[in-house]
Amino acid sequence: MSDTAPATVQFADLGLPAPLLQALSSLGYETPSPIQAEAIPTLLAGEDLLGLAQTGTGKTAAFALPVLAGIDVSLRATQALILTPTRELALQVAEALQRYAQNMRGFSVLALYGGSAFAPQFKALERGVHVVVATPGRLTDHMRRGSIKFDDMRFLVLDEADEMLKMGFADDLDAVFEKVPEKTQKALFSATMPAGVRTVARKHMREPKEIRLHSGVTSSLDTITQKVWEVSNHHKLDAMTRLLEVEPVEAMIVFVRTKTASLELAERLEARGFAAAALNGDLSQQLREQVVDRLKRGLLDIVVATDVAARGLDVERISHVLNYDLPHDSESYVHRIGRTGRAGRSGTAILFATPRERRLLHVLEKATGQKIQPQALPSADAVRSGRLSKLAARLNSARENTGALHQQLVSDLLELTSMDPEELAAALLSILPGAKTLVEPVTDLPAAPPRREGGDERDAGLVRYKVQGGRANNLMPKPLVDALVKHGRLQRQQIGHIKMFTEHTGVYLPALDDATLARLADVEINGVALQIRSWPAPPGESDRPPRRAPRKDFAGKPKPPAKPRRD
Ligand code: AMP
Repeated sequence: MSDTAPATVQFADLGLPAPLLQALSSLGYETPSPIQAEAIPTLLAGEDLLGLAQTGTGKTAAFALPVLAGIDVSLRATQALILTPTRELALQVAEALQRYAQNMRGFSVLALYGGSAFAPQFKALERGVHVVVATPGRLTDHMRRGSIKFDDMRFLVLDEADEMLKMGFADDLDAVFEKVPEKTQKALFSATMPAGVRTVARKHMREPKEIRLHSGVTSSLDTITQKVWEVSNHHKLDAMTRLLEVEPVEAMIVFVRTKTASLELAERLEARGFAAAALNGDLSQQLREQVVDRLKRGLLDIVVATDVAARGLDVERISHVLNYDLPHDSESYVHRIGRTGRAGRSGTAILFATPRERRLLHVLEKATGQKIQPQALPSADAVRSGRLSKLAARLNSARENTGALHQQLVSDLLELTSMDPEELAAALLSILPGAKTLVEPVTDLPAAPPRREGGDERDAGLVRYKVQGGRANNLMPKPLVDALVKHGRLQRQQIGHIKMFTEHTGVYLPALDDATLARLADVEINGVALQIRSWPAPPGESDRPPRRAPRKDFAGKPKPPAKPRRD
């Protein structure tokens, strides 16, 4: 593996206006991710774009920043429309836009998704919002009612286009493309490039520039063991402290995504008594060298770094690399973990993955040609006994340094306090700084919650039903929902998560009475009778809907189909 880093592109090189650059700097973004470095100049130049990218690559900023650069805030009209498959993603994109537009006074964005009231949405659209982020179903409703205007639309972005097509929204997407003015600039992002996505691009886009991330950095990193700990975002710090108690860490590099995060985490670790410092691109070359030097000499044990700042770092003592945040691409991951296992020593690379990020693991496994071992978070008991044995080891080595003076002290203290020896030892422990953690309660960290997709909240209180017909019959969620609305007399927003299998489909619905079940049983879609019946979740399985697990890598290359799920 080579350590010579390619010249790094800066945000300032991409042609973004000052208010956006300022926002990025206050968010602590250091350098553009690969997809951003390619997509931003293309979109700023007015070209249509077809981007193969998935969550985690920084794709949201890749389209959000050029969109914002083109918004005329003084014009109170919808100038950009962004379509996303789920409510969750719509909200995330809207929030990201707000963050990046923090220095654009008067800027407004609205998220439109199913299951929420129409009235406030009408009002907001009437007042005029600059950007609308919508799920296709709700957007179609608004188009039907004429509440959304397309005259000033400058951008149309499809995010996770493959997911929207999978959900059966091809016709709705066509209708949107036909509705926007001819000159509207279009960007389509998709994690995979199935024929359906290509067809949309061919039909509606002007010679789009195609961007895909290069993958396949296969390096052999023989001296490094890789592990993954599944942990939700707000338990990462606790998980890290625990990790430091159970792993034999000599020195550790912790990778985070932003400069701000590197400072914050280093401070919090210092506050917890660790010898930690930040290493990021804001530090002068001299300060950076100082940090590295202190790490080499053992004056520091933990360095919290951003990717750029830690490039090429070569310190033998580094026994562990912690990916506190996942990197944006597999190449960065390989660079990161290569900071350990140097000079023939063995090293451990640990990855914190949130449930949402679980699916990215196989990309990293491919890039490194190794398995990443899943690791359970150490239990409270393991932590307690770890602390106890460390103290026992310290006491044993201290015994060599005790002598007559210490013994005299003990007898004086026993006399002065009138305690017996055990009471005295307990009292000493209670005031010994290093032993404080021994009496602190240790709780088990909660397991990371299952991933929430758009619509999950609606599934609470719903019952799972099974219908005949699945992927093999080209059953799509939309006709199914239409049939449930028409024949089951359900409201669209009452329908929860839908999971397609090969020959059948699971759908979360309010409990249906016998008459409704009978009405639905004979309804046919694509020549298959639904034969709907209740389908309780098996014991031990979460009652939440199973998460969708698209099998694709960072660069969006489709993977061979997963083994059929037993259900
Ligand atoms: P996305 O792939 O759009 O879901 O972004 C993944 C995460 O990376 C989000 O938390 C973003 O805020 C963050 N992010 C995006 N671009 C950058 C960047 N250039 N530097 C640091 N963090 C970023």
